[in-house]
Amino acid sequence: MKVVEVRRAGGPLTVAERPLPQPQAHQVRIRVEACGICHGDLMAVHGYHPGITFPRVPGHEVIGRIDAVGPEAEGWTVGQRVGVGYVHGPLGVTGVTVDGGYAEYMVAHENALVAIDEAWDAVVAAPLMCAGVTTFSALRQSAARPGDIVAIVGMGGLGHLAVQYARHFGYYTVALTRSPEKVEGARQLGAHEAILIGAADPAAELLRLGGAKLILVTAPNAELASQLVRGLAHDGQLLTVIGGGEPLVVSPGEILGRRLSIRGWRVDDPEELPRALAFSLRAGVRPEVEAYPLDEAAYAFQRMLDGTVHYRAVLVPGRSQG
Ligand SMILES: [Zn+2]
Repeated sequence: MKVVEVRRAGGPLTVAERPLPQPQAHQVRIRVEACGICHGDLMAVHGYHPGITFPRVPGHEVIGRIDAVGPEAEGWTVGQRVGVGYVHGPLGVTGVTVDGGYAEYMVAHENALVAIDEAWDAVVAAPLMCAGVTTFSALRQSAARPGDIVAIVGMGGLGHLAVQYARHFGYYTVALTRSPEKVEGARQLGAHEAILIGAADPAAELLRLGGAKLILVTAPNAELASQLVRGLAHDGQLLTVIGGGEPLVVSPGEILGRRLSIRGWRVDDPEELPRALAFSLRAGVRPEVEAYPLDEAAYAFQRMLDGTVHYRAVLVPGRSQG
């Protein structure tokens, strides 16, 4: 089978041939139909995660069909449509400490699987497995209530889904983007307002609206996130769903004065993913994607890093080059 692997920390994404993996006890093998390219895949590419070994196949936004069931794997059958997200399962972390979905086939633990409705196009559904469930969960579990002002920072793979969820959840939704062409895109996706960072002072704009109850940070820019704290309302919260090593700089006085809070959100409830998938299907939340064959993984990954991709790049193993 064809895979895209990283052979050393910081190494390039390289196309390789491997033998077909055999599902072990409590595992299934999946023929991958689509796998989204997530910013979190940098953990595999750079080897940031403890316990990572190389070569490693990244990818934790997987949609596919079961094509073999290992011994003792219960509840799953050949031909069934399934997805695999960023799972800290018994087998390891998908696409980080165990091989993921940048491949024609992968194996996954039975507990790492979620059933995928046949109504979904695999390429469209793939980004829901991480970007979708992450933003869905962060907004759902936050302190914001319908009618509150919620700002979404960044209009990439995560942000463009966060805007859709925020609108559906009844927030007054404000998108913040550095990309002029995404200002109109954000409005089309449901944002009540879209602010071009750089053209306006986004914190001042949020204060003009009365201050944001929630600022959801989906772009890896700690300096910008620090500046945006000024745009929070009383009891407001800055919530990040994206990592990064740069420090957030906020004065204790500012946090104290308006009782602000800063926190991170990562999904750890396994029920959240089926909930996000069902809501997205019924409510019409749809990832916007660019599809690429495995041979163009390195190019697609660079477009994700550069922020030039049309919201989310998705690898489609069945698609040939060109
Ligand atoms: Zn991810």
